[in-house]
Amino acid sequence: VIQDITDRQRAEREIQTLQEQLREQSIRDCLTGLYNRRYLEETFERELLLAERHQYPVSLIMCDLDHFKEINDRYGHLAGDAVLRNFADILAGSSRSSDIYCRYGGEEFLLIMPRMEVGDAALRAEQLRVSIATSHVAFEGAEIWLTASFGIAAYPAHGTTIDQLIGAADRALYTAKEAGRNRVVTADTIHSAKRD
Ligand code: GH3
Ligand code: MG
Ligand code: MG
Repeated sequence: VIQDITDRQRAEREIQTLQEQLREQSIRDCLTGLYNRRYLEETFERELLLAERHQYPVSLIMCDLDHFKEINDRYGHLAGDAVLRNFADILAGSSRSSDIYCRYGGEEFLLIMPRMEVGDAALRAEQLRVSIATSHVAFEGAEIWLTASFGIAAYPAHGTTIDQLIGAADRALYTAKEAGRNRVVTADTIHSAKRD
């Protein structure tokens, strides 16, 4: 009987470990190790509820690498992967513990900063922009230089739902691209944004 219980306990522990591994895999991007979009959307929802309850701002930085396709074309896909990992490291290295950041899509990253005003978020993005533009990635003897563009939005000034906020940051990012890339643009304030 004792042997039986020990076996069962071991099996239960193994199942638990497997479940934890699966959960971890389902919320991480395997190339960069950052959280993925799915995790971010789950967490963002909770952050917005807290922000509403305690009345503080939440800022978002949407970031997209400039002319990334050319890096793949010129140096190869593996070099592109190295650039993405490098970018993820810069993002992770410059974040506060309360920040949530993820690889949002191919070469797009999203950073969510609870209790941060939009102006401070723009400064953070500017620091990131400079650190990317002034450092290169070494890959198989090549020096790869690149820049990135940033769109900023914040709760509640630019929206109160995930879709509104990501939409606002995305439009600001698009404006940054149109204006010539390698820059930070803050969303226009939506004066009609409703607050219950
Ligand atoms: P823009 O400045 O307008 O953002 O131009 P871009 O070239 O960065 O944007 P575009 O959307 O045209 O190209 C994005 C490229 O990113 C295309 C795709 O092949 C590449 N990409 C997406 N995911 C990965 C990945 O995991 N690894 C590598 N190496 N490339 C990827
Ligand atoms: Mg791009
Ligand atoms: Mg893109």
